[in-house]
Amino acid sequence: MRLTVVGYAGSFPGPDSPASCYLLEAEGFRMVLDLGSGALGPLQRHVRLNDVDAVCISHLHVDHYMDMCPYWVVRNYAPGGTPPPIPVYGPAGTANRLALAYGLDPDPGMTRVFDFVTLSPGRREIGPFSVTAGHVNHPVETFGFRIEYGGRALAYSADTGESATLAELARSADVLLCEASFIDRPGLPANLHLTGRGAGEHAARAGAGHLVLTHLTPGNDPACTLAEAQSAFGGTVSLASADRVIDLGGDGPLAPSAASPR
Ligand SMILES: [Zn+2]
Repeated sequence: MRLTVVGYAGSFPGPDSPASCYLLEAEGFRMVLDLGSGALGPLQRHVRLNDVDAVCISHLHVDHYMDMCPYWVVRNYAPGGTPPPIPVYGPAGTANRLALAYGLDPDPGMTRVFDFVTLSPGRREIGPFSVTAGHVNHPVETFGFRIEYGGRALAYSADTGESATLAELARSADVLLCEASFIDRPGLPANLHLTGRGAGEHAARAGAGHLVLTHLTPGNDPACTLAEAQSAFGGTVSLASADRVIDLGGDGPLAPSAASPR
């Protein structure tokens, strides 16, 4: 299972990264996890856009879904004709929100291009991945994920404040990809985002192997976020960066070499 960080900037794109977007690959299957503002361009460094097999949207904040609008254009007007629809997993209301965002009549909206599937807490198979979704702690319905393949596990926090569900999703995970939007200071809003320290506390509680800090707010000092997390978690901690690839291993079939970067 291979994770590529396409975008790690929190809440809005930064000078060095678009907003949230990750590419997960195994056995040649390509799943995009969030497609936030600005991410569709850099995503093309890692996969041909029409080769994406599934999209999973954690929640309906624009920094996690907005580039589904230009992605609809890519598939709807593909030169060789619209390819068969791909599944798009998201919270209730995803299809209508996207139609509204693009100014389309909700019927059919984007449903000829995307096969929308409403997420609910629990486990489902998406391609070769076993994906467990759970509600995390954010002002709109938001799913964190545990994605398993070949004996390896990746947990993704999405956006969340303090969350027992996140710690459960990340239990003994090889990698916890965890948001760390805030720098620790008095008076931070509750039930919204984590600090580096909060991310570290969740990783420690879960017994995760490697904590990767993401959803980093442009303008914050990443060294400060890293130090906060290291103060709370004794395992490996690192910062997400654009185009970073993390190979989680796993004992499934070797992925075809045609990951198709251009
Ligand atoms: Zn959010």
